[in-house]
Amino acid sequence: MYPHFCVSRETAEDFMRLFVNRLAYGIQASKPLPDGRAPYYLAQDWYTKEPKLLDAGVVRMHLNGDITINLYAINPRTQRSKWVAIDADFDGAVEALFQLQWELRQDGVDAALEQSRRGGHLWILARTPLLASECRIYIYNLALRLGVPVKGGGLKEGIEVFPKQDHLEDGEYGNAIRAPLGVHRKSNRRYWFYEAELTPESQLAYLNGVKKLTEEDLKTFIQGMNLPEAYKPVVAAPYTPRVSFAGSQEFRILDYVRTTRKDSRNLWARCPSCAQAGRDRSGDNLAIQVKDPRFYKCWAGCSKEEIRAALGQPIRHNQPV
Ligand SMILES: [Zn+2]
Repeated sequence: MYPHFCVSRETAEDFMRLFVNRLAYGIQASKPLPDGRAPYYLAQDWYTKEPKLLDAGVVRMHLNGDITINLYAINPRTQRSKWVAIDADFDGAVEALFQLQWELRQDGVDAALEQSRRGGHLWILARTPLLASECRIYIYNLALRLGVPVKGGGLKEGIEVFPKQDHLEDGEYGNAIRAPLGVHRKSNRRYWFYEAELTPESQLAYLNGVKKLTEEDLKTFIQGMNLPEAYKPVVAAPYTPRVSFAGSQEFRILDYVRTTRKDSRNLWARCPSCAQAGRDRSGDNLAIQVKDPRFYKCWAGCSKEEIRAALGQPIRHNQPV
């Protein structure tokens, strides 16, 4: 079991200053589901379904160990994030994070390493919120230079970089990561930053002392750099209706989903059927063949029938699918 704490409002406000840039948040299931997952649910008002807003009271409950929350990286009004978090959970994850931490230090950038259930999270804190797109250019190029694998772009294993998007449209949330210093409901453990005593107060004092990345420095680091080609977001081709042999319009999956990335064989998107069930928050369960987009598959196992039904385009079995 994990220790409970009773932190002050000031401690919670410290945490807000360091980590909270967007007030929407998620709450982790209080215990794992029968299938072992412990998913997060967007905190919403019961009646209006409007997202609830994070405040020091909720953060106190998180730090005390009563609930566990996650944080969205990007504020859609500014397209900025207060932090960059690098998540690694593969074999050799901690070594890769130490390597990144060392390389960052060569640029004069401090990064704080937090343990996680299967690896770690490396956090870079910002002096003022930074453009998500610029954070991503910096970290992707750094990882590429070190040969640290980055998930996506054809790789199933590698680090994940939050913010995971360059921009958010209105109403989008992007990806969220477990807020530091809370209890992971799957393992019932707290994970701490390596370089401080194991109380919320000492951990926050340590994080307050970590040097913050400035926008000016970030702009210098990425001068002349782009996001590596394989990781650029893909925009689907514009829609041109086609008529099939049956005389009805052929169903085209790309008219219905927004692709998030592309590799040599597939376009990837959030699976509509998973999305309906509140799953696939990373938006890459659905693979659509580049060569022939009539072939698509959900890696979480949704059937073609379920995907079509979720899009309001059910398969009628007397017609070619
Ligand atoms: Zn699915």
